[in-house]
Amino acid sequence: MPDFDLFVIGGGSGGVACARRAASHGAKVGLAEHSKVGGTCVIRGCVPKKLMHYGAHFQEWFRAAACYGWQIGEPKLAFEHLCEARNKEIARLNGIYLQMLERAGVRLLPAHARILEQRDGEAFVVQAGEEEVTAARVLAAVGARPSLPDVPGIELAWTSDEVLENVYPLPERLAVVGAGYIGLELASIFNALGSTTTLVLRGDMPLRGFEHDLRQHLTVEVEGHGMAVWNETRVERIERAGDCLRLVTSRGPLAVDAVIYATGRSPVPQTAGLGLEAHGVERHATGTIAVDRSYRSSNPLIHAVGDCSDHAGTALEGVPFDLTPVAIAEGRALAERLFNDNPLEVNYATIPTAVFALPQAASVGMSEAKARAAGHEVTIYRTSFRPMFHTLTGGTTRTMMKLVVDKASDRVLGCHMVGEDAAEMIQGFAVALTAGATKKVFDATVALHPTAAEEFVTMYQPHTG
Ligand code: FAD
Ligand code: NDP
Repeated sequence: MPDFDLFVIGGGSGGVACARRAASHGAKVGLAEHSKVGGTCVIRGCVPKKLMHYGAHFQEWFRAAACYGWQIGEPKLAFEHLCEARNKEIARLNGIYLQMLERAGVRLLPAHARILEQRDGEAFVVQAGEEEVTAARVLAAVGARPSLPDVPGIELAWTSDEVLENVYPLPERLAVVGAGYIGLELASIFNALGSTTTLVLRGDMPLRGFEHDLRQHLTVEVEGHGMAVWNETRVERIERAGDCLRLVTSRGPLAVDAVIYATGRSPVPQTAGLGLEAHGVERHATGTIAVDRSYRSSNPLIHAVGDCSDHAGTALEGVPFDLTPVAIAEGRALAERLFNDNPLEVNYATIPTAVFALPQAASVGMSEAKARAAGHEVTIYRTSFRPMFHTLTGGTTRTMMKLVVDKASDRVLGCHMVGEDAAEMIQGFAVALTAGATKKVFDATVALHPTAAEEFVTMYQPHTG
């Protein structure tokens, strides 16, 4: 008998979710984690990022406060206090994750793991640090790492790992290279906290793959909040210039105190040394492990979920689903299939997603371009308005909302927003889209007043032009 029914490599969102669910169905589960249990999301991703996003938000509220009659003097930021408070909370959450594994009866091996051999086409021998254990099945849930281009001086740049784990003084001038999720979120945070921030991107607009109107509106908004956006700009090298740094770019030099690279994440460093090839596991050129809808790789006893997988082939369609709830849903679905005879399926069609910039941007379903490319004839509803909060502050920020509706069936295919609390709103509309709501259902829903969200159910005239 092998030591474990399932051995999980990686204690992040997907690995922990699968391990706990499998153990709850009576499976003997081991889990190896070579860093901190909680993984990217808890230790150096979603959670520390959201705490800093909250911290950054105060800037706008302090500015607005006087317009609402509050006299609060000159606010002063102790940035290192914010980093320390964030780290304290992350340490607390890490402790909770350790307790959850223990309570579930999952044996934790705090070590680097890799597959050594598969005996008689059956049990695997896995090395975890100094220990060798055997398991009937192995789950790779090893995530991804920041991926850095080969630019001279790149070693001078920070990645989100350093930004979200370390304690350091607030940089006066900052460049953020890359304008995907991480680039926009971190640039927004530092811009609001007081760093003079330049977002440097090689494309024409941030957030490639998102709804065009959302990208355009968000660009105007972040610029309106004082961020410089250098689009169509190539970084040639990064140099030290005294105590500072100089980015030499195709648009000219940029003097900064720190540079953050947010140019995507790659599973290659995580999946390359796991011993997968030797056991017939197919990986794509991107380093992701190819899995079927049962999260089975080309070796039927080796599974993969989360960022290190191709999300049951959906990643090949260019949809970015490297998100925590996706890793968790996949991990749970796998445990249900293996140990509870429950063929749970993850619904990839209506996964909501948010970019925690200031303001936030969030989406569920198809962009207008994707809907048209998929052969839908669509009706577009769009609105842009000054949020009520800013009627007293005089702020020029505007909220944008857009619905993409299928003409033939009246189904709402996509729901997109830029504005305060966009993430909170889009979660609710994701339920509606998952239930297959039509525009008629949106129209028949009575508004909740006075909110921004009510605009989603009161858009009446199709948008033309
Ligand atoms: P991970 O959470 O990365 O876990 C993998 C674990 O495996 C790691 O702990 C690693 O140390 C361990 N490991 C790797 N190799 C080995 C080995 N050989 N042996 C032992 N252990 C190993 N998603 C959202 O939904 N919302 C957000 O707001 C959000 N914000 C983010 C912000 C940032 C800055 C980043 C980087 C990501 C963010 N994400 C967000 C994405 C989210 O964090 C990931 O999609 C999620 O963590 C993926 O979970 P996972 O289990 O696949 O991998
Ligand atoms: P993204 O893939 O979102 O964005 C990468 C950015 O870097 C793009 O602007 C891309 O440009 C640019 N880029 C890529 N390579 C280069 C290069 N060689 N030189 C210059 N620019 C380059 O990756 P992120 O790192 O922002 O985030 C990784 C993943 O983490 C996300 O895809 C998401 O799944 C997850 N995440 C989710 C969050 C959330 O849910 N709120 C928050 C943070 C991360 P181009 O568009 O031209 O290719």
